[in-house]
Amino acid sequence: MKLRISDKRVRWAVVTMILTISLGVQSYTAPEVSPQKQVVLDWLSQPQILEKFGKISDAIWSYAELGLQEFKSSKLLADTLEQAGFKVERGLAGMPTCFVASYGSGKPVIGILGEYDALPMLSQKGRVPTQDPLVEGGPGHGCGHNAQCTSASAAAIAVKQAMDKYGIKGTIKVFGSPAEETLISRPYMVKAGLFKDVDAVIDNHGSSGFSTGYGTEGDAMYSTMFTFKGRTAHAAGAPWAARSALDAVDIMDVAVNFLREHLFYTHRIHYVITEGGEGPNVVPDRATVWYYVRDTDERLEETYNRVLNCAKAGALASGTELATMRVLTAIHQRHANKAAAELFQKNIDLVGMPAWTEEEQAFAKALQKTLARKEEGFPSTVGKLREPDRTFVGGGSSDVGDVTLVAPTATIMFPGQVPGSISHHWSVTASNYGSAMWKGLNAGAKAMAASAIDLMTIPEELKKVRDEFEAYAKDHPYKSFLPADAAPPLDLNRELMEKYRPKMEPGYIVP
Ligand SMILES: [Zn+2]
Repeated sequence: MKLRISDKRVRWAVVTMILTISLGVQSYTAPEVSPQKQVVLDWLSQPQILEKFGKISDAIWSYAELGLQEFKSSKLLADTLEQAGFKVERGLAGMPTCFVASYGSGKPVIGILGEYDALPMLSQKGRVPTQDPLVEGGPGHGCGHNAQCTSASAAAIAVKQAMDKYGIKGTIKVFGSPAEETLISRPYMVKAGLFKDVDAVIDNHGSSGFSTGYGTEGDAMYSTMFTFKGRTAHAAGAPWAARSALDAVDIMDVAVNFLREHLFYTHRIHYVITEGGEGPNVVPDRATVWYYVRDTDERLEETYNRVLNCAKAGALASGTELATMRVLTAIHQRHANKAAAELFQKNIDLVGMPAWTEEEQAFAKALQKTLARKEEGFPSTVGKLREPDRTFVGGGSSDVGDVTLVAPTATIMFPGQVPGSISHHWSVTASNYGSAMWKGLNAGAKAMAASAIDLMTIPEELKKVRDEFEAYAKDHPYKSFLPADAAPPLDLNRELMEKYRPKMEPGYIVP
């Protein structure tokens, strides 16, 4: 049969063909996308996959388990990886909630980090734009960690699909990392040798934007509990017979607060008194103060030693004894690899910002209104590669720092949180639940899986990352700040979790 171009159906077919070709050039079927990478993008684009990991994220959000108490969260993730065919080792580095899931064999070994701990006092109903706790005083996911190991797991399982289909050589690993909020797990995981054979590491964190960066970030830190022992007595009847452990804490704190003036501006020091007596009429014979001492890698030990002197001064002046100095953790600054970040940025650009529904935008604007922020909703474009700050002034810490010094690492920040929501605040808990976060963590998984595929299939990319790391490591050889006898504080948060878990259980979401 002779075709006539005037035929309506033929004309439509031609238009469709032209549209397909032109749209195809702009979307991720662009020529630079290898077939291996296309597999991970297609696998993660399936609606049932987006939903599966979205529900896992929501379930972990509802468990809201504090650091080293993430029994349900880590089990759900480890089980998910095991069911997908990964070999899972649990209870590693002295932490019951730490796991490593591996698939494949031999080199290269690409690791993806994943966190799942919550924060105290940040319980909040999901996608409710005003403060409204689910459980009064209970913990909540006010930093976004519910989505992070979830996204890492989705990425790793996607990589497995491409490995199986194309026979890609190497190993993909997920590092289930407990207690990031208290900066605990990674120095112990490094010490246990878990990163020994890893060639490159992809880290991730929930955010409102979709971005990555490189250079030195955040402060190194000691987390130490100082316990003083004195002598008790009637506080009015025979105070001269007593030696107050609380006095020792007070004198130490005053000394540290005077010390601040004479420390370099990169430091941060803060403390809480966790034990200071139970009634004013009994002189406390035992008191404990918990310090975070932060500074750069180069200055940390000197700053810390000066704080130790303040503790000794407290004991001497009060006539008590500095009974224990319990180091819970000690970590390095983050040194993100530039070549890795540049590679991650290409994949972030490739994946692009998810499209948000009107309902999601309406929630974002309502939350922004509550917080007196600009009512701009969710963003429509991804971020540009972040360069290091010209002047380093210190700041927050992450225990990812220790990993960055033993394997080349950079972090992918994935979207889903409402811009203007405040970290470690109920507003982030509110926005870490539901469809926007599902899409955000899915986009993050795509960027991570695509980057892992590049590192496994393009030897020059991995070489660039490794060469930069080897050169950097010569000037920054890794030495743990942990004392030899330090151990993960498994008791931390146990009581708090025991208090709130029964109240939270009725609200658990089924993944
Ligand atoms: Zn965090």
